[in-house]
Amino acid sequence: MIVTRFAPSPNGMLHLGHAFSAIVAHDLARQGGGRFLLRIEDIDGARSRPELADAFRRDLEWLGLEWDEVPAQSTRLASYEAAAQRLLEMGLLYRCSCTRKEIAALAPRTGPEGLIYPGTCKGRNLDPAKPAALRLDVEKALAQVGEIVWEDATYGAVIADPRPFGDVVLGRKDEPASYHLAATLDDAADGVTLVTRGADLFMATHIHRVLQALLGLPVPRWHHHGLLLDENGEKLAKRKGSPSLADRRAAGEDGLLLAEQLRLHRFPAGISLAKP
Ligand code: GLU
Repeated sequence: MIVTRFAPSPNGMLHLGHAFSAIVAHDLARQGGGRFLLRIEDIDGARSRPELADAFRRDLEWLGLEWDEVPAQSTRLASYEAAAQRLLEMGLLYRCSCTRKEIAALAPRTGPEGLIYPGTCKGRNLDPAKPAALRLDVEKALAQVGEIVWEDATYGAVIADPRPFGDVVLGRKDEPASYHLAATLDDAADGVTLVTRGADLFMATHIHRVLQALLGLPVPRWHHHGLLLDENGEKLAKRKGSPSLADRRAAGEDGLLLAEQLRLHRFPAGISLAKP
């Protein structure tokens, strides 16, 4: 059975781009007679605003979508800790106490998520009692899993190569997991068979696929859809002034009609769909 999900982070209101993403995931599940899940990704304690989850549910309802909600990430911290512990025991994670400033000062290159960590703490064996981030030793991880592939609806068979990220953070100083570890574990736990999300997260899949191989998790397929762009050709974002779905709802717009327009790729003035 096909299982898709929409996994918003409650750190800002949903906008048209999120609506499009949710509709793509919802419709793919429904066309296959499957399930569409909602998962609130509220792991970022400092930025998460719990009250937004309710607004998200109202937004999806307004768009005429139906979903099954699975537990929010904040309730699953023990599973993230257990997986991080396993990776530590496998010798694939190392503790890192570097600050952003320290990393920036070493003038490393930039990857898909910003600065590429120069590996300063690798081999340092920092005191486990002190707070530290946990980084994946990407070369070691790749040596362990060998060449692995993922199936993407848009890109076909892709060879997983997370090296452009460098040694990514899987556990943060103040939280037990980063997005990569949490989302990968949750998709497996939730039985997601088709991960649908924007093409901006395409690169992240290289990491997720390697984590699945390391942790022996089931392997879904992926569907990375194109992003909605504003009149400047930039990704929609609330901070750039695109109205939120809640704004549109409050202004009396018809959500069902909007959803139909999005399905037909008829976008409001100034909005376009980028090729994935
Ligand atoms: N929580 C992520 C976001 O809001 C989405 C994660 C995903 O779809 O994998 O950007």
